[in-house]
Amino acid sequence: MKYGILGDIHGNLSALETVLDAFRREGVDHVLSVGDVVGYGAAPRECIDLVRSVGATVVKGNHDAACVDEIDVVYFNNYAREAVAWTQTMLKREERRWLAELPMTAELESCYVSHGTLHQPELFNYIQSTTDADPSLDVMELPVCFVGHTHVPVALLRLHDDPLRTAYTVDGVVDVSEAYRALINVGSVGQPRDEDPRAAYAIFDTMESTVAIRRVEYDIELEANRIRKAGLPSVLADRLFLGV
Ligand code: ZN
Repeated sequence: MKYGILGDIHGNLSALETVLDAFRREGVDHVLSVGDVVGYGAAPRECIDLVRSVGATVVKGNHDAACVDEIDVVYFNNYAREAVAWTQTMLKREERRWLAELPMTAELESCYVSHGTLHQPELFNYIQSTTDADPSLDVMELPVCFVGHTHVPVALLRLHDDPLRTAYTVDGVVDVSEAYRALINVGSVGQPRDEDPRAAYAIFDTMESTVAIRRVEYDIELEANRIRKAGLPSVLADRLFLGV
């Protein structure tokens, strides 16, 4: 089984189309999304349509929740708040219903999917250290969990030979057969923040027991113009070129 995992898409249609093309080339059997399908970008409806059309398993991100008034945007920065308000004016009732009905986590045959943490997904906390990862690793009964939220790819691991210690790696390929538990942040499709502007995605090959984080160039210019034309804050277009 080959899973293709979409990190935070954030309404970036060009990036999403490019990654889905890559999934087709890689022979992906099933698509997973760690949430934040919408917010920031100028194509929220098109992105919802696309992830639905490929039959993806999708969990709820904090921007998805904010766009259906489930969380208070007081904790968002000004640009994010503006983007949420704009997205709310664009979404049709049926799309809002789809977002509202997204689960907080998903459990598949050999992995979990969540947006922020696995142990308290509704709080949308960030995993930025091994200590942050520990409570999620503690509740895992399956070997692998995919998350997003920080927009920075990283793998947090407990290895078979030292299962009490949590380590991390930014290697492009993780051999999950060596890991007793692996919590993997897949980075972001539509708004990378690790100073690499290319779209990020992951491929989980269950036969090979590997998770690969890959990067692919997409048409940033086109997407930035879409953001500017929509009247969204221009900083949301500019940051795409920098990967911040
Ligand atoms: Zn996000």
